[in-house]
Amino acid sequence: MSVLDIKDLQVSIETEQGKKEILRGVDLRIASGEIHAVMGPNGSGKSTLAYTIAGHPRYSVDGGSITLDGEDVLEMSVDERARAGLFLAMQYPVEIPGVTVSNFLRTAKTAVSGEAPRVRQWIGDVRTAMEQLRMDPSFGERNVNEGFSGGEKKRHEILQMELLRPQFAVLDETDSGLDVDALRIVSEGVNRIKGETGLGVLLITHYTRILRYIQPDFVHVFVNGRIAEQGGRELADRLEDEGYDRYLKAGV
Ligand code: ADP
Ligand code: MG
Ligand code: MG
Repeated sequence: MSVLDIKDLQVSIETEQGKKEILRGVDLRIASGEIHAVMGPNGSGKSTLAYTIAGHPRYSVDGGSITLDGEDVLEMSVDERARAGLFLAMQYPVEIPGVTVSNFLRTAKTAVSGEAPRVRQWIGDVRTAMEQLRMDPSFGERNVNEGFSGGEKKRHEILQMELLRPQFAVLDETDSGLDVDALRIVSEGVNRIKGETGLGVLLITHYTRILRYIQPDFVHVFVNGRIAEQGGRELADRLEDEGYDRYLKAGV
């Protein structure tokens, strides 16, 4: 069992108007096999949390810690984080001209596991994973993210997760721009990988819709750079009815 532990995390960015504090003391502990939903209004700092876990250089950590089984994640390079078993879905959002999905996945697998996968086994694994996500085999020959639809981008993320077998995945707004069919396929993928490997998931979302397909064990409401409330999945149902007004009015 692994634990990703975030303690009193404080994060700011430099803007033209000076330093801007975004995260103001976030505590979050995720164990293997747990699904944590982070929900909250736009601008509350959800993506900042994801980018900070990913090691994006723009975000500076002013206090607190992130550890993975006791190891200091904040000291790790982006590559080291991936090798340690962290998967961040927004890590590869850019187009990579001239690099096919197939080559990209193989390079990523080699980087994460420290050795090139054996060819025959690998081809089989990729084929199986693509079938499960109902992707056409020709997808492997396309350039990464070039002209991908929203649904294709998300499926590509799940495909990476399926093949890289991380310990923890941070999925930032994986549901945005998905139609119901794509949402179902993506959610089935997450649930299946969780079942097979004990993946722990930090699922960041603005809407409750995806939580009908991926059932969270814990729900955290993020407001103004802090967790304003925590609960089980019943909290998501309440948010669906009431929205975030209550928290915003309370000025948390
Ligand atoms: P969320 O994902 O919850 O919508 P974000 O983490 O994207 O929230 O943003 C939190 C706050 O930080 C917002 O006020 C946003 O404008 C600001 N912010 C985040 N990243 C940047 C950035 N790179 N440059 C300027 N402001 C940013
Ligand atoms: Mg936003
Ligand atoms: Mg965001």
